[in-house]
Amino acid sequence: MLAVMYGLFGLIIGSFVNVVVLRSGVLSLSGKSGCMSCGAKIKWYDLIPVLSWLALRGRCRACGSRISVQYPAVELGTGVSFALIGGASLPPLATLLGLLICSVLIAIAVYDLRHTIIPDAWVWSFNALALISIFLPESSLTAFSSQTAFDTIAGPIVAAPLFVLWLVSRGKWIGLGDSKLALGIGWLLGSLAGIKAVLLAFILGAIIGLALIFFSSALWNRIVKQFIQHHSWHMSGAGITMKSEIPFGPFLIAACLFVWISQIYHIPIPFLWQ
Ligand SMILES: [Zn+2]
Repeated sequence: MLAVMYGLFGLIIGSFVNVVVLRSGVLSLSGKSGCMSCGAKIKWYDLIPVLSWLALRGRCRACGSRISVQYPAVELGTGVSFALIGGASLPPLATLLGLLICSVLIAIAVYDLRHTIIPDAWVWSFNALALISIFLPESSLTAFSSQTAFDTIAGPIVAAPLFVLWLVSRGKWIGLGDSKLALGIGWLLGSLAGIKAVLLAFILGAIIGLALIFFSSALWNRIVKQFIQHHSWHMSGAGITMKSEIPFGPFLIAACLFVWISQIYHIPIPFLWQ
């Protein structure tokens, strides 16, 4: 029951995250919500997380232009994360800090997906909150052994390999922002789990990166044409190639949330764990 309440709260925070990501550096947050295409003011009943998007089938009520699947996806992702973190019966202060960290991480992931850059202010906010989590009294945020002042080196330990990759590749393989992000991941999860989260992010990134390259490649086009005879059909989408820049931040954050939540619930992860 508690998890459901936190989940509903997360849906609302998720739609706020959408607004923050969309308007950061563009408009003030107090501006009225309007359609990106026609500027029509959005009615209150079209602002209900997830449900409104489903009811409108992802289209603006006024002009019918597409509304990105990002909106319900972020709302749902935040809702589920809030339900899992809030429902874990952590100490109140740890829950509050956990939900804050979760919101900032999701905002960073979405911003990185849209702009392939991680805002400094946001990543350092996450890092500061993660550093504070080490010094929480009672059981720590991860409900996993007692973290001590010694764990402040976990951040640099987890960030160092990514920093070296950034340095060696002169920013071509990963961004400096990814290394900054790993600093907070180390502080949040501890060095061992932090490194596991980074490894998991590389695995996720490789699988999804290759899938994106494959599905938008000429080879894939030819395979699809064997099956689909529509002449009007043609490949839409980003057209991702090896040279395309796929942001690493969302993978780091997905892996961090996954490892973090399994730590909270003491669920061992096969292969990566133990
Ligand atoms: Zn519209």
